[in-house]
Amino acid sequence: MTTHAPSDALVRNDDLKALVRTIPDYPIPGIQFRDVSTLLLDGWGFRETIDRLAAMVDPDEIDLIAGIEARGFIVAAALSYALRKGKLMLRKKGKLPGETVGIDYALEYGTDRIEMHQGAVRPGQRVLIVDDLLATGGTALAGAALLRGEGAIVDKALFIVDLPELGGGERLRTAGIAPHALLSFEGH
Ligand code: AMP
Repeated sequence: MTTHAPSDALVRNDDLKALVRTIPDYPIPGIQFRDVSTLLLDGWGFRETIDRLAAMVDPDEIDLIAGIEARGFIVAAALSYALRKGKLMLRKKGKLPGETVGIDYALEYGTDRIEMHQGAVRPGQRVLIVDDLLATGGTALAGAALLRGEGAIVDKALFIVDLPELGGGERLRTAGIAPHALLSFEGH
């Protein structure tokens, strides 16, 4: 009897993985930059990416989508359309015109800050965090802390790419956030 279990290659989304370009030593020596801009250039690939990400989410379990600047906005916008959910922008410092709340977070060297509009989320709303890529998890965790500080419930985050060796998935799980990603790459 034949079985209809999906092949490993399909489960790993190898067709989409082939559309992500790797640029060695960017932005600094030793980093393999996983560049999703080549995936975005492919109309079929982008649509499949969004359809497969949307299938990982139960729309009844979320109220809003939070996209992280800048590539996260592209994913968040398409998912927001597909799932018929509103979205909010987690932006870099000084970009939002209204009253903001923000949080500083540590980078490998120095610090950064993300901000959102005050009142963009109501206490008790369930917010899905979305970005293109999960590396150390620092950015997503800062977004979650900011949203939780405003009373939101954050227990899920969605990425196109995960770099498991950088430990972001573990850090998110420890903070009570389930990370989901379509693709995973070895190394840094
Ligand atoms: P992190 O806060 O360490 O999880 O880093 C995540 C953010 O940095 C995401 O917004 C990514 O777009 C970007 N990023 C970090 N490492 C890489 C990498 N190797 N390739 C592409 N983007 C990366």
